[in-house]
Amino acid sequence: MLNSHWHQDHIFGNAIFAPETEIYATTRTCEIMREKTPTDIVEFKKHWPEQLTEWAESARMAKDEAERLDFEDGVRFAQAIINTFPQVKMRLPDHTFTDRLEFKGTKRTIEFVTLGGGHSDSDAFLHLPAERLIFTGDLLVVKTHPDLTYGHPRDWLAILANIKALDPICLIPGHGEFGTVADVAAIERYLNDLLRMAEKNARESGTARVLLPYDLRRSPKTGITLRRLDET
Ligand SMILES: [Zn+2]
Repeated sequence: MLNSHWHQDHIFGNAIFAPETEIYATTRTCEIMREKTPTDIVEFKKHWPEQLTEWAESARMAKDEAERLDFEDGVRFAQAIINTFPQVKMRLPDHTFTDRLEFKGTKRTIEFVTLGGGHSDSDAFLHLPAERLIFTGDLLVVKTHPDLTYGHPRDWLAILANIKALDPICLIPGHGEFGTVADVAAIERYLNDLLRMAEKNARESGTARVLLPYDLRRSPKTGITLRRLDET
């Protein structure tokens, strides 16, 4: 199994796999996990019960039916997360790599590849060269805003160019719908636009902060998944 990067939604399930399942990650991802994951788990188990209470309260105070349903959705989501708590334990990868690993099976060959960090400090993807498939982790999302919270947009663009050069017929993101190279191009446009806006703002007002042209209110729906790109 490959941990694509250190984010909790990609590694907190490690412990539920049988001990003989060998888990791989990049050396840098493993380093970050060793440092961050124990505290992340403590905070996660503290955060979600509080979040559930907050959304339950917001559902009670909702100004209309749509908002009430939105927050009730959030409450169910939070409860589903809380139900996983007993299984969420620290488990580090068994093996690390720094650039590329190849596994030849009887039927197919797979590669674990890292080209550095774009969405996180270190992102890995799984490539099936003969089938021309790539499991991208969070390096790609389809019709959805990419998450740049811990990202490096310029390095991310370089990684996406390399992914396109592998000429995949299908890309399988860590979240949401499958995509093609056309969806990679959409994320490239998004990152380039964002960089241009940040540079312009930095030049004109001394801050690189970019305000999104829509209201991203902190509701379960927009807070967790963000709006789909085609809705904005
Ligand atoms: Zn992520």
